[in-house]
Amino acid sequence: MTINSQVSVMQQIITRFPPSPTGYLHVGGARTALFNWLYARHTKGRLVLRIEDTDVKRSTQASVDAIFEALEWLGIDWDDGPYFQSKRFDIYMDYVDRLLESGNAYYCTCTPERLEDMRKRAMAAGGKPKYDGTCREKGISGAEGAVVRLKAPLTGTTVVEDVVKGNIVFQNAELDDFIICRSDGSPTYNFCVVVDDMTMGINTVIRGDDHVMNTPKQMLIYKALGHELPIYAHVPMVLGSDRTRLSKRHGAMSVTAYRDMGFLPEALVNYLVRLGWSFGDEEFFCRDELIEKFSLENVGTSAGIFDFDKLLSLNAEHMKAMPLVDLSRMALPFFQQNGYRGTDDQLFEKAVETLIPRSKTLEEMADIGGFYFADAIAYDEKAARKFLKSAALLPLERLTGKLEELDTFDEPSLEQVFQAVMEETGLKLGKIAQPVRVALTGKTASPGIFEVISIVGKEKVIARLKDAIAYIQALPS
Ligand code: GLU
Repeated sequence: MTINSQVSVMQQIITRFPPSPTGYLHVGGARTALFNWLYARHTKGRLVLRIEDTDVKRSTQASVDAIFEALEWLGIDWDDGPYFQSKRFDIYMDYVDRLLESGNAYYCTCTPERLEDMRKRAMAAGGKPKYDGTCREKGISGAEGAVVRLKAPLTGTTVVEDVVKGNIVFQNAELDDFIICRSDGSPTYNFCVVVDDMTMGINTVIRGDDHVMNTPKQMLIYKALGHELPIYAHVPMVLGSDRTRLSKRHGAMSVTAYRDMGFLPEALVNYLVRLGWSFGDEEFFCRDELIEKFSLENVGTSAGIFDFDKLLSLNAEHMKAMPLVDLSRMALPFFQQNGYRGTDDQLFEKAVETLIPRSKTLEEMADIGGFYFADAIAYDEKAARKFLKSAALLPLERLTGKLEELDTFDEPSLEQVFQAVMEETGLKLGKIAQPVRVALTGKTASPGIFEVISIVGKEKVIARLKDAIAYIQALPS
């Protein structure tokens, strides 16, 4: 069956994102969230957010907050939830009871010692450890310390019809009567997931393929509860450049670390989606295009390799494509972090505009563009050695004098002033512009010199030129 025919019999696609709050939202998890969100938005379906916090020892409120913060920054919204598994124990217990009543689950009172012995014997015989079914037909009606096991089929196969990976066949003989409720009364992970997915109306499960081994067990639970299966799409992992599972060794893992490095959410979204999904050779997608074009058919079967340089260049492209007002708003905190206290939004936007072609991230932009608003300029050593020397004194002095008399610092007026200095000194533009650039920015590369002069503004330009003149005069001859 193709996805379309499966989908056509369903009314509305309902996907879910169920993070475990045991840390920040990492890029792999974010990609899973994005796929579920895009598929829900593309099909005009719904996305459910569920926090899988049954592991009370490892789950923290700080992680829950960090996940919300990252989702919000990425622009991922949801239609239902957030649900918290820790608040749903009564529902899980109700379903455990249903399975006990229907004879699809049973109490087991085998001691840990017995189970350990069973495990050792299976290992010694070269087999997979598996429960031997001792209590399966005993009809035990609940006892202190008993666990509840699913009565799984002993023969036949369970086939995951995965829309990304195709059919994956599991032998039922390999799956054992696994525990669905522990002796302390707490339901187990796979059981909670199925009860949640069922009761939340989930019909499409898109998740990392590290969960593939859980799927046959979850399918058996669906079957025992007499519920229709969802569509499964297991997405290959995101790997580091050395093709091992993405970890801290490969660089930043958390979504918010990319925000703090000055990446745009649009760029990270674009990059992460492209890391496991394609649409011809296209690399650049804005959010609406992704929603329009996303489909499960085009999710790839090989692992995505996280490539930081590619993300950087995609970010640069998104910076170019973003409306200037929005980009400036996002860049502002980075400049403020570097000491910017200005309030002239128009001037700030003008500065940002000149920096777009020169920066790949907002952080880099604020570093490069810090000179615009700085109180004093620190010269790059090499730049000063090369350009702030006695030969520059005359053009700098002439220029300063002329600029002091100039009222409008627009491009045509500035060009005229430079022209006049060129004529008076007999120097070419470069011989004048480079010392001026170092005087105003501290560096040999910057946005266009006239743009720099007009944005830095008359008062600061004159002060910086005078500083440079004094610097040259103080040089040992
Ligand atoms: N809570 C799981 C995780 O964070 C997801 C489980 C699932 O998608 O079924 O990896």
